[in-house]
Amino acid sequence: MSPRMPRLPVFPAVAVALAGWLVFAAEAPPDSPATLERLTVRGTAGLRTLEGEVLVEAVDGGVLLELPDERYEVVQPAAIVSREQLDEERGTDTPRELGQRILAELPPGFSVHVTKHYVVCFDTSRDYAKWCAALFERLHDAFGNFWTKAGLEVVDPPRPLVVVIFADREAYEAHAARDLGAAADRVVGYYNLLSNRVTTFDLTGTDGVMRPSGSQRGGAAAQIMTSPAAAGLVSTLVHEATHQMAFNCGMHRRLAPVPLWLSEGIATYFETPELDSDRGWRGIGAINRPRLDQFLTAHRPGDIAAIVASDDRFRSTEAPLDAYAAAWALTRHLVDTRKRAFVDYVRLQAAKQPLTDDSPEERLRDFETAFGASPTEIEVDVVKAMARLASRPAR
Ligand SMILES: [Zn+2]
Repeated sequence: MSPRMPRLPVFPAVAVALAGWLVFAAEAPPDSPATLERLTVRGTAGLRTLEGEVLVEAVDGGVLLELPDERYEVVQPAAIVSREQLDEERGTDTPRELGQRILAELPPGFSVHVTKHYVVCFDTSRDYAKWCAALFERLHDAFGNFWTKAGLEVVDPPRPLVVVIFADREAYEAHAARDLGAAADRVVGYYNLLSNRVTTFDLTGTDGVMRPSGSQRGGAAAQIMTSPAAAGLVSTLVHEATHQMAFNCGMHRRLAPVPLWLSEGIATYFETPELDSDRGWRGIGAINRPRLDQFLTAHRPGDIAAIVASDDRFRSTEAPLDAYAAAWALTRHLVDTRKRAFVDYVRLQAAKQPLTDDSPEERLRDFETAFGASPTEIEVDVVKAMARLASRPAR
């Protein structure tokens, strides 16, 4: 195992003006029961004590630790002062306890809204938080049903999924800067693989104008969906929540070398909003017009092979949205025409271990093994299929 520090371990939604849209730039159960340990760690601010499950033990003595609030921490060998195995089983927080634990790290003024599968921490209006949580729950169910029907073994996330929603952009950016650095002002929401959280802000700015809860049936939802930001809001939330689901239902493992074309392809496959409904999103499989248009405009031969072999195009500052569009087009085509092979490929990726790396050659080989053809061979069909989709009505 060759441990590596994760590169920017986030899936950001980057705001880019495109025809009025905001478009965007599971952990499987451990193989053996993880042991609970207490580590004393030396950092820039002095000594810290960490308690959690050791998920990966690198040959050089570094560890990947999962903390009680679902965060991952990579501890380098030189930082470890002492390690002690604990006898007790890991206690499980109730969703409320987890919420309280997270509130303690957030600026003052946040509250918790708990639903069946989510813990939403927010300082915007409760109506907005509830509307978002209902959207997440619909995504949760639709996601599970879709993949189960496709023959993939997915599990209900074993612990609540955490979403943090800031009322205003400035406070969000200040908070997000520690995860995103200078990119915080371009990213309107993100899923962080280390914290396992989705963080975003109230894109509608309805905080100050929302009527008190209950004053008008459906009023809050209607207000949200008539906001000019509605399309970008829904696609951002669903996109990031899809990443979070995929990494918590056994489909991908956090910090494993999941190809970005696959994780972004799946997130963009799910993200398409339904703007004529107050609920904002209904399900899966709608044609993603902004991605389709972008693909047809920007596609160059060789693009599909490039994103299959490497994640570089998603991370480059030059036209990363072209890579997202290609990922959507490839995923859409493979799900439409080779769903069983696609599920095989997803299963293969689900087995990859955290903090390992795949070479471009391995990635191309995995693809060819699952689909029986190279990305270059499949590319011709993708382009034709996308041109056909462009001439069809929306669903
Ligand atoms: Zn994404």
